[in-house]
Amino acid sequence: MLKLYNTLTKKVEEFIPIDPNEVKIYMCGPTVYDYFHIGNARSFVMADMVRRYLEYKGYKVKFVMNLTDVDDKIIKKANEEKRKPSEVTNDYINAFFDDITKLKIKKANVYPKATEHMSEIIDLIKKLEDKKFAYNKDGNVFYDVKHFSEYGKLSGKNIEDLESGARIEINEEKSNPLDFALWKKAKDGEPYWESPWGKGRPGWHIECSAMSCKHLGETFDIHAGGNDLIFPHHENEIAQSEAATGKPFVKYWLHFGFLNINEEKMSKSLGNFFTARDVLKRYSAEAIRMFFAQAYYRGPLNFTDDLLTGAEKGLEKITNLVDKVNDEIKKNNSRLPAGRQGVKPEFDFKSFYQRFEEAMDEDLNTSQAVAVIFDFAKEVNRIIASSENVDVNLYNDVKTFLTKTAENVLGIVDFNKTIAGDDKLVGELVELLMKLRTEAKQNKNYQLSDTIRDRLKELGVVLQDGKEGTNYKIVR
Ligand code: AMP
Ligand code: ZN
Repeated sequence: MLKLYNTLTKKVEEFIPIDPNEVKIYMCGPTVYDYFHIGNARSFVMADMVRRYLEYKGYKVKFVMNLTDVDDKIIKKANEEKRKPSEVTNDYINAFFDDITKLKIKKANVYPKATEHMSEIIDLIKKLEDKKFAYNKDGNVFYDVKHFSEYGKLSGKNIEDLESGARIEINEEKSNPLDFALWKKAKDGEPYWESPWGKGRPGWHIECSAMSCKHLGETFDIHAGGNDLIFPHHENEIAQSEAATGKPFVKYWLHFGFLNINEEKMSKSLGNFFTARDVLKRYSAEAIRMFFAQAYYRGPLNFTDDLLTGAEKGLEKITNLVDKVNDEIKKNNSRLPAGRQGVKPEFDFKSFYQRFEEAMDEDLNTSQAVAVIFDFAKEVNRIIASSENVDVNLYNDVKTFLTKTAENVLGIVDFNKTIAGDDKLVGELVELLMKLRTEAKQNKNYQLSDTIRDRLKELGVVLQDGKEGTNYKIVR
């Protein structure tokens, strides 16, 4: 029985989907004006693990992730680069797909874009206006927070405290500083859409209410995002959706802890971030996912090279076993005629499946699930070492276990990586580049020889010059 911590009720609850045939999940996606950073990646990867575990448990899952492609930051970037906003967003949407593919994140069923849902957004604002939850001030439409009596139920904040803490904004149009924009009147040089309130564009919060309703219905199972979105973004989504439909919006709210750097939130605005694509040049997707999986998903996690290197080192134990299993299965398949029957040692696979599920069922205890996989690898290695002529069926069962758990749920191993073959080719290519570097040095073309050394280093191949010649070390 899966249990999840629900930010709305502040309790760990049994997960019971609204429709037993299909779990519906909405995850707040990126604002596409830049490459996403490794902090965003933590939230995307953890949402992916939630989705994959539900699939492991036999649920059909509909997973929706929005792409915010109308936003102040996009307009700013487009103006700086003298390009159209759509050119900027197209580039970063493509980059987003490249990066999530590299991170082994499963594709969502739908990636709705705000620019493609203007009629749904406008209809929703109209509904809120009709029900007196929204007011128009000269082409700007605001949500009237005080009108929604349950405002604050997700974040645990109450309106009075919020009001006393609110800065006195220089915005005479709003009736109350806590009110937020549903529709923003167009300013010169900004992209705009026609609406009953004149030319303008939607606010950020209304996009998610409109698009989740369109693709998942008025009430759905899980809404996820990083901790920073609890307030005000998700609080506002609830206020909008529940005011419009009169129904509960979401059953379970899941929030992911922040990835910090030097104990400070990693964010684009603070400028203290590493893009996921840069980190992927230094560490494999499996190592990055392992680093995330080893931490509790709701807590903060500090980004350090030591932790990532540690995750990578730890993974070696499992990848060695994956290599061995791949080898044994390949050997057996190529054996002619049909291979001799080996001895199949007793092995309690069932208890390992059970332990893996117990860990994941307990509010997604992925670090415990990883520990189970380590125990499993240790036990398999012990059995293999102590038996002669192990039957290939044992290797097949080991492969099935690791595929279902470590590969399909956590994404920390990849049985299709033909490590042996890749290593050989990598070795040959590095040797070739070292030879070219030596030739460049002999020709006194130091610029080229240095470039070869530096570029290899960027790829994680460190050249070490010694008395005996040059060696290389792969540090990724
Ligand atoms: P953004 O592009 O900033 O709207 O963020 C996209 C997603 O990443 C949202 O779900 C955020 O909550 C999440 N996020 C942003 N920064 C971090 C961070 N440092 N650690 C974890 N998640 C984050
Ligand atoms: Zn959202």
